[in-house]
Amino acid sequence: MSHVDVLKLHELKATPQRLCVLDVLEKYGHATLEDIEKYTKVKFSTLSLSTIYRNINEMLKKGILSEVKLANKKDHYEITKANHAHLVCIQCGKIEDFTINTQELLQKAETLTCNKIYNITLSFNTICKECLSAK
Ligand SMILES: [Zn+2]
Ligand SMILES: [Zn+2]
Repeated sequence: MSHVDVLKLHELKATPQRLCVLDVLEKYGHATLEDIEKYTKVKFSTLSLSTIYRNINEMLKKGILSEVKLANKKDHYEITKANHAHLVCIQCGKIEDFTINTQELLQKAETLTCNKIYNITLSFNTICKECLSAK
């Protein structure tokens, strides 16, 4: 599905600003507000941080984007995908997706703790392939 269709499906107008944010996230996978500002500035030099933030928030509310919470890192954003964990390189800071069935883990944790668990934020501190081979 194209980004235009995704926005339409969620009753949001496919504005160039929103499309640009989606393009950036598609290309880079995960990005902070500042990253997104940096990349969108190339196309829209007059776009303010607050405008970008507003657009991100609208797409977060609709579930098109998700917040990625990582320990010791600024909040990142990504295009919403199926549940997955994150691999964070402790050397270069790269964030990669790692597909894992977090549902199974969630159920196990609920059984063990008797708590109602709403969601899981799973991240692994790693040294990525590139950093490993650079040694
Ligand atoms: Zn690395
Ligand atoms: Zn991700």
